Amino acid sequence: MKKHYLLTPGPTPVPPEVALKEALPIIHHRTSEFGSIFKDVAEGLKYVFRTQNDVFITSSSGTGAMESAVVNLLSPGDEVIVASTGNFGDRWIKICETYGIKVHSISIEWGKAVSVSEIEKLLKANSGVKAVYTTFTETSTGVVNDIQAIGEIVSKTPAVLVVDAISGLVGQEYHADDWKVDVTVSGSQKGFMLAPGLAFVSLSAKAWKLAEESKLPKFYFDYKKYKKSLLTNETPFTPPVSLIVSLQEAIKMIKEHTIEQVWADCRLLAKASREGMKALGLELFAEKPCDVVTSAKVPEEIGGKIVKLLREKYGVSIAGGQGAVKGKIIRFAHMGYIGKADILIGFSCLEMVLKELGYKVELGKSVAAVQEVLLNNK
Ligand SMILES: *Cc1c(COP(=O)(O)O)cnc(C)c1O
Repeated sequence: MKKHYLLTPGPTPVPPEVALKEALPIIHHRTSEFGSIFKDVAEGLKYVFRTQNDVFITSSSGTGAMESAVVNLLSPGDEVIVASTGNFGDRWIKICETYGIKVHSISIEWGKAVSVSEIEKLLKANSGVKAVYTTFTETSTGVVNDIQAIGEIVSKTPAVLVVDAISGLVGQEYHADDWKVDVTVSGSQKGFMLAPGLAFVSLSAKAWKLAEESKLPKFYFDYKKYKKSLLTNETPFTPPVSLIVSLQEAIKMIKEHTIEQVWADCRLLAKASREGMKALGLELFAEKPCDVVTSAKVPEEIGGKIVKLLREKYGVSIAGGQGAVKGKIIRFAHMGYIGKADILIGFSCLEMVLKELGYKVELGKSVAAVQEVLLNNK
């Protein structure tokens, strides 16, 4: 038998309180019983997003909500800016191009954060741009982008700012309204501590105006349907009832702990993880590391083997690199229901795997480095 530890940047572990709610008998979604749960969840999401705007819930993974933020805001031939810092930023480009949108892309070298002045330059040079798409925490590299600074710039133009906060929301400090973000997209299986299957989108009045003019085809993800249904505490189509019920529990846990404390917890785990990597002699990959996932470079001879061996021998799942950095980095998540003890287990097993693969490591060194951070930063 093997005990499993999920330390991947999505999906993340689900707390037992939340998982139990998923096991309850299904209730009908056009009832006052479901309506009161839905209302509570819709309000709770505003608390987490730090917004006064409506937050729509769609039955899809995060990418479905990303696509919805393209088809609902734009019309054929529209121009947008995509500021990409990795795999997930590139996804915005692919979605936009699928729908015939003209993309002015800024592709930042993986591991680096987006340059705000470059967005400003492109906005000045292309006054017809309808939207700027970017990523909050770029999960493929571990970088956090300065959304507040980008919001400052974009808000002064007619364009709307759309942010993929699928991995960043909950774990990393984020303020949709104060940072002047028009559309924020997130998903259930990362910071929210839920099973995969739900996605969330918040929409400002400025974005809503664009949505009203949008001519790209859409049916299932048409925001107008979601806005109308929200008035009666419903979704336009059958929602994953169990996930909504479990989301109510997850939001309750976040509220009890407070969002500020959740941010602080992740910040501490991120600091501990960075020190752990350094103690192993592994260079951090992200120039501006985020609080929800830590990425580090690993020697190429063993890079492709670490993740598999960790999982097979010790039941510990972490992530490797994607795309161009496949086999070159490892990624260790610390968001959602991942706690201090999980990080210690992760590093302890990582040390053993590295040693087994012939990498020179002094056993206990990274564990001690993590312990020091945890003890000294309460
Ligand atoms: C996980 C993730 C996605 C993709 O979400 P899915 O739920 O797999 O569709 C997109 N962007 C970021 C930043 C992510 O971390």
